[in-house]
Amino acid sequence: MSEFDTIVIGGGVAGAAAAMYCARFNLKTLGFATLPGGLITTTHLVENYPGIKKITGPAMGQVFLEHAMETGAEYNFSTVSKIEKKHDLFVISVGDKSFTARTVIYATGTKHKHLGVKGEEEFKNKGVSYCALCDAAFFKEKTVAVIGGGDTAAIDANILAQHCKKVYILVRKDFMRAEPTNQDRIERDPKVEIKYLTEVQEICGTDKVSHVILQDGTQFDLDGIFVAIGWNSNSQLAGDLGVKLNDRKEVIINRESETNIAGFYGAGDVTDAKFKQAIIGAGEGVYASVMAYDYIQKHFR
Ligand code: NDP
Repeated sequence: MSEFDTIVIGGGVAGAAAAMYCARFNLKTLGFATLPGGLITTTHLVENYPGIKKITGPAMGQVFLEHAMETGAEYNFSTVSKIEKKHDLFVISVGDKSFTARTVIYATGTKHKHLGVKGEEEFKNKGVSYCALCDAAFFKEKTVAVIGGGDTAAIDANILAQHCKKVYILVRKDFMRAEPTNQDRIERDPKVEIKYLTEVQEICGTDKVSHVILQDGTQFDLDGIFVAIGWNSNSQLAGDLGVKLNDRKEVIINRESETNIAGFYGAGDVTDAKFKQAIIGAGEGVYASVMAYDYIQKHFR
């Protein structure tokens, strides 16, 4: 069984920032990354990371991970199946293999929420998508709808408008809550039309999506549906260990990225931090690594 000072679970911005700092502290560091670069790699452009005026999401994910590796963190691209605490060490299982660590930094991020309506599962990848950046090019000159009223919906509509003939945004309330810059962009784009107080009840088609049924029973013809209704935290492994979660199942951390379990820290979108932003996740990752270093100095040196 290999033993590490710190195991960082999650290969997104928060996890990579944490791993890079741990490596700089000369901690023997192992990072687990199921999706190398994390969810930011599914974002088109990042224009709000201070100091970097403009970078694509995939490039940002890659550069963060490279920075961690070049600083000395080892990486394993498998999925962690269990975290236990045995005496003063954490045991991380990946299938039938185990790794031990003195500290854990948990930065597992989020996964896309699903609508839960009839037809959504059946037409997944047959017209239903959760990633505009990944799939927009398949909808050239088509008519699509983004479902959701947040920042992701606005950003996705912008990306889709570069490829599609027409992009609707279907918003269940009578307002959107996107960042003003992104809201302005969609409102200025002649291809984008926002339909408020509109909810999808069923997604229909034969071999691929052809239309949806709205809450008032009307049929709305569409070639594609991009679901952008927020995310759920990937907190299950932490919850199983006994880490306290809030009612949205996010890992509760304090300002120093500590959880209720000594030596176990949280960082990034999986935590209860109010704003899910790359810069905030990176900051939490750095805080977690400093705290992990302190903890190791006090308890193991
Ligand atoms: P949000 O939670 O902000 O918005 C979700 C939207 O989807 C809301 O309009 C919500 O409606 C709607 N919605 C939720 N469930 C349903 C449903 N079942 N049917 C129809 N509509 C539904 O999610 P986002 O993904 O937009 O953003 C999440 C966070 O990520 C935000 O903090 C955002 O700022 C951030 N973000 C950061 C980016 C970056 O760092 N560059 C990029 C994109 C997002 P209602 O208002 O009725 O609840």
